[in-house]
Amino acid sequence: MAKWVLDAGHGGSDSGAVGKYGRREADIVLEAVYETKRLLERNGEVVLLTRASDVYLDVKDRVDIANNWNADYFVSFHMNSFVDNSVSGTEIVIFEKGNKSEELARFLKDELLANLKSKDRGIKEASYTILRQTKMPAVIIEAEFISNEDVEKNFSAIKYGYMVARACLAMVNKVLIDIPIKKPKTPTREGWRICIGYYRDYEEAEDEVIRLQNEGFKDVYVVPYPEDN
Ligand SMILES: [Zn+2]
Repeated sequence: MAKWVLDAGHGGSDSGAVGKYGRREADIVLEAVYETKRLLERNGEVVLLTRASDVYLDVKDRVDIANNWNADYFVSFHMNSFVDNSVSGTEIVIFEKGNKSEELARFLKDELLANLKSKDRGIKEASYTILRQTKMPAVIIEAEFISNEDVEKNFSAIKYGYMVARACLAMVNKVLIDIPIKKPKTPTREGWRICIGYYRDYEEAEDEVIRLQNEGFKDVYVVPYPEDN
């Protein structure tokens, strides 16, 4: 069991990158952290979100949450953006290579590239405050480019969350077991009919239709049983 801080980038007044059709990075990454949290917790991991709604947090807030909680790992969720909207691909950013951050970055990169069918933009080093000041292995995921129209149209936040969960679990030598959510009690269909009874004799069924129509049920009709397919 490990303690994971999942950090949805941006939020509140900071929407992050916004695609041509209006999808906001801040919303996508929030949905993704929720899915990762759900899956990690189902698999016995302990999770803390830096933000659980559309609120603004600065970098220091995020670092403090992770350090004060003594997290084992810090994972920051983002999407990339670029003026040239043909650019695509996924990269993971860490403070420096040759440590557990890089190991986690590798699991993330493998998982995301395989399942997003995304171009490999590699594991990059950068001296961002959020990576430098967190005291545990820390990564920033830049999953695909929201500035790319195909990505914006097709990108699934739930899938993003699922892949990150798989990578995080691989980091602690676990394989994701997803226990499906119970189906809602009312299945989804086009509509419903109400059945009033079963009659062996057709005449008897017709008589019942007339009786019910007289009582005010205008749409009563006979349906053969078993129904023809
Ligand atoms: Zn971002």
